[in-house]
Amino acid sequence: MNYFKKCFYVFATIGFALMVVNCKRVKKAEAGETGVAIPSQTVGITKSEFGTTPEGEKVDKYTLKNEAGMEVAIITYGGIISNLIVPDSKGIRQDVVLGFPTLDQYIESSPYFGALIGRYGNRIAAGKFTLDEKQYTLARNDGPNHLHGGLKGFDKKVWTASEKIDENSASLVLHYLSKDGEEGYPGNLHVQVTYTLNNDNALDIQYMANTDMKTVVNLTNHSYFNLSGDFSKTILDHVLTIRADGYLPIDKGLIPTGQIEPVSGTPFDFREPKEIGADINAENEQLKLGMGYDHCWVLNKQNAEMSLAAKVYNPENGRVLEVFTTEPGIQFYSGNFLDGTLPAKNEGTYARRSGLCLETEHFPDSPNQHNFPSVVLNPGEQYSSKTTFKFSTK
Ligand code: BGC
Repeated sequence: MNYFKKCFYVFATIGFALMVVNCKRVKKAEAGETGVAIPSQTVGITKSEFGTTPEGEKVDKYTLKNEAGMEVAIITYGGIISNLIVPDSKGIRQDVVLGFPTLDQYIESSPYFGALIGRYGNRIAAGKFTLDEKQYTLARNDGPNHLHGGLKGFDKKVWTASEKIDENSASLVLHYLSKDGEEGYPGNLHVQVTYTLNNDNALDIQYMANTDMKTVVNLTNHSYFNLSGDFSKTILDHVLTIRADGYLPIDKGLIPTGQIEPVSGTPFDFREPKEIGADINAENEQLKLGMGYDHCWVLNKQNAEMSLAAKVYNPENGRVLEVFTTEPGIQFYSGNFLDGTLPAKNEGTYARRSGLCLETEHFPDSPNQHNFPSVVLNPGEQYSSKTTFKFSTK
């Protein structure tokens, strides 16, 4: 073969190989999988039908997009973040939250995937508390205790929604009226939660509420993150930092004992970046009680100013999640109760520790622990809390 023919064959072979690789990447992207940087987009919101509840309520899905490659889908059932698409350090965009493709799956059995939690995030011991000498009894849905608002908390309600859009952000404003006596709580509570996706890849969640009777409120979001974008992997290799010198030890019902323990010298010390898996199996009574990490960290802060609470980094693809909040605490739950029975979005199932939660909140069981910051809301007062999930790469 002469030199020119040889060159032709070499270039033709390379060209063909590149075409095949590209075809595969495009196919994967079309299938919603990994593999290719998707072209730029503008700020916008699209709405589609997501299903109907057994009670006949229509559920919609809103997809918020920004200019920087992020996309957040929220369904009006539970105000659930069902998809959160984020670029990695190569610009590859993947979904980084656990969830389901259908409404039925959320209704049948969901461990609060992506949901808004209320009236009270986390546990209230024995489902009881007292306000002005009157005792209130709440629904008990976690053994003898009350968890995440009860049998039908805010995560299982259909919220009304409206859209707001400007040059730099897209917002979804959700409303829910929790009636006096719902799940045992006093007072009609009007709740508004605004999700705003900004052009700097930050998702703000602004919580507002007011009541007509003295009550308790502690709202949060229960997203399970897996920054790998591959739900067959665990989160044990994610590197976590929590800005907290102390945490709340728990009893066997996962209720705080009331003490604030220093993290220093314990597996709970995340003041410097540390792999989640580094100490998770350490010989430690608190890790045994939680079956891993399932505790509230007491953030290093003096007031309700917005400040950095936690940071998660995936060394494999460079994704970084920073959590900023006005709240005094953050519940870090390492997905210990996921057990491989729930189907994952694409294929397979959600295995133990395939997602992690960073729930910004007031401390669990505060209505019964008088040394904890107050969660009482009086008529005429405005409940206001803000959390930002900010994504970047390094
Ligand atoms: C709690 C866990 C619970 C999980 C899902 C977390 O906020 O701390 O104990 O299992 O939510 O229900």
